[in-house]
Amino acid sequence: MVAAVALTGAAALAQDAPKPEDTEQWSPVPPVVTPGRTDAEPPSDALVLFDGKTLDQWVATKDKAPAGWTVAGGVVTVNKAAGNIETKKSFRNFQLHLEWRVPPGVTGSGQARGNSGVFLASTGPGDGGYELQILDSYENKTYVNGQAGALYKQHPPLVNAMRKPGEWQTYDVVWTAPVFAADGSVTSPAKVTAFHNGVLIQNDAVLAGETRYIGKPSYRPYATAPIKLQAHGDPSPPISFRNIWVRELP
Ligand code: MG
Repeated sequence: MVAAVALTGAAALAQDAPKPEDTEQWSPVPPVVTPGRTDAEPPSDALVLFDGKTLDQWVATKDKAPAGWTVAGGVVTVNKAAGNIETKKSFRNFQLHLEWRVPPGVTGSGQARGNSGVFLASTGPGDGGYELQILDSYENKTYVNGQAGALYKQHPPLVNAMRKPGEWQTYDVVWTAPVFAADGSVTSPAKVTAFHNGVLIQNDAVLAGETRYIGKPSYRPYATAPIKLQAHGDPSPPISFRNIWVRELP
């Protein structure tokens, strides 16, 4: 009798023991995405914003006219006179890839040396929105929350992963848009994770609002916004871009 009770207890214990299957998830199955075969090729589900041939996906920020930057040899070069350009399409959360190059022999210093920027959400005219700084930060001193990879005047990059002028640089960015309540208050702030040449430079950085040249950041409610590239007014030779694509995220 005692032995029988013991056996029953052991069997019951075996039945209740956790199994590997208990913690397996089988659905929903993640969609298949074919990655690019090279760094220059976007993944299969990306929206290509610049493929080296045309600026069809872009307009001038100031008047929504065709984007007047110079496309040649598979790259687009800033035309400072034409001003900022932005995507025709508006986005919410996304992964963005872009490549940029400071021209060899660039001149100027500080903020006046290869200055541009990518606004992850263009929520206003001119430089309105949220700027991830583009600058020649290779042996070029400036305020650290304004160097390449900074979320302008809010978060310096974690490290300086800059290549020399004349070499191509990559940005890979995850943008989580801010969420606003019906009364315009912020439910969840904007967040940015970013890699510069494959090196982590922003790790889930939380923004206090739009990036501003002068004054404190603050939020303006928006739902979706274009991605914008900056034509900075400094006199240094203009930078170029290539291979720009975006993957919208839920
Ligand atoms: Mg800039």
